[in-house]
Amino acid sequence: VVVYLISTGFYLMSNTYIIIGVSAAGLGVVHTLRKLDAAARIVCISYELEDPYNKCFIVDYLSGAKERSAVLTLTDSVAQSKHIERVLGVRVISIDQSKCQVVCSNGAVFPYTAVCIATGCSPVLPEIAGGGGAQGIFTFYHISDVDSIRAYIAQHNVQEAVVVGAGFTGLEAADGLRAHVPTVSVIERSTHALPHHVDTAGAALIEQYMQKSDVRFYANTSVVQIEQSGGAVKAVILSDGRTILAHLVIYAVGARPHTELASASGILLRDGYIAVDDAMQTSAQGIYAAGDCAVLPRRMRPSFTWPAAMYQGTIAAHSMAGQSKIAVEAPPVISSSFFGIKFASCGVLVPVEPELYTIKITSGTDFYHRLVYKDGFLRGFVLVGNTQLLAQLRRDIH
Ligand SMILES: Cc1cc2nc3c(=O)[nH]c(=O)nc-3n(C[C@H](O)[C@H](O)[C@H](O)COP(=O)(O)OP(=O)(O)OC[C@H]3O[C@@H](n4cnc5c(N)ncnc54)[C@H](O)[C@@H]3O)c2cc1C
Repeated sequence: VVVYLISTGFYLMSNTYIIIGVSAAGLGVVHTLRKLDAAARIVCISYELEDPYNKCFIVDYLSGAKERSAVLTLTDSVAQSKHIERVLGVRVISIDQSKCQVVCSNGAVFPYTAVCIATGCSPVLPEIAGGGGAQGIFTFYHISDVDSIRAYIAQHNVQEAVVVGAGFTGLEAADGLRAHVPTVSVIERSTHALPHHVDTAGAALIEQYMQKSDVRFYANTSVVQIEQSGGAVKAVILSDGRTILAHLVIYAVGARPHTELASASGILLRDGYIAVDDAMQTSAQGIYAAGDCAVLPRRMRPSFTWPAAMYQGTIAAHSMAGQSKIAVEAPPVISSSFFGIKFASCGVLVPVEPELYTIKITSGTDFYHRLVYKDGFLRGFVLVGNTQLLAQLRRDIH
């Protein structure tokens, strides 16, 4: 709080913090700022219309294991109780540094003391021949995607679904769909599931569980064409010539960071992400960034995990409130569970210079553990099936 003493008396002027994006990083910022600066005006802005929610649980909302309300984070009543203003369904289009204002797509303008860009990523939409304008094609990234997928399944009595991509979101989407759709197929261009996280042997176990769950898996192939009937998707054609019936298709082929706003505002990027220092400060005075859109020094890319984005939000909040705090990030743990099998990984998974590393693999009928060592120290691990060692290995990692 800045107190101005002028001849007429005291005038109290509170700080105004603007947070762009109300997901993991944005939540980390707003909750921390509220603790650090009780009197501040805190405004969070998101272009999503829906109440903010936790992405880690949208699969449970898709499957029906959780109610929609159970995945929401900053509902109106929570925000009101903490005196946090929510502006939903509105996109921030520029940050005017000379006037210290953020400008929104609806013409609204908000002055700021400090601003945090927590704009995350958007799913990539591949351009596949024949797919233009077809009903029944979705991504699996936002809660609105799940609303649309569930409504479409209910309205069209979908019997066959195809998920394009066998990364984490693809496998989670396929797992969630099983509850509603009898025949679910997953298409993966690479040789195996989770190609960026596990080798073929570890993936084989996941693929076994997929098969046991009646999910069909097609590796080494890709969708080259979409067939429509009456304006809706009917089938997909694979690069190897096979046709798979599909009345619903989910693209899960990756995500791109939202950096247009930063670029338009003259903020420096590095390797496609917003460059920040260890205090989450961007190249622009008073403007911070956190989460999946931002990259820390000495890192090649963001962590892409919920806890890491939230943590960075807390660091950004300290900087915004004028308190110096430095991000000390441990390598993020990626953990999930699909088709009844658990998965966790951390640190170096596929060494760039394999000759410098030693790999220790132990496996059985229902587990696969791959530990990566360098100079006698644990540098990374992948656990499939039995993940009981997770906490211990996490502590041991260097
Ligand atoms: C399906 C799925 C499952 C996942 N499961 C897990 C998991 O189990 N564990 C885990 O650790 N991680 C998981 N993740 C990853 C995790 O959710 C992300 O790392 C995390 O959400 C990143 O948070 P963020 O705040 O940086 O960005 P995001 O979550 O991407 O949110 C960014 C927000 O910014 C808003 N926005 C963007 N541009 C603008 C603009 N110009 N104006 C206004 N608003 C804007 C968007 O509306 C969006 O709401 C999952 C991700 C997905 C998609």
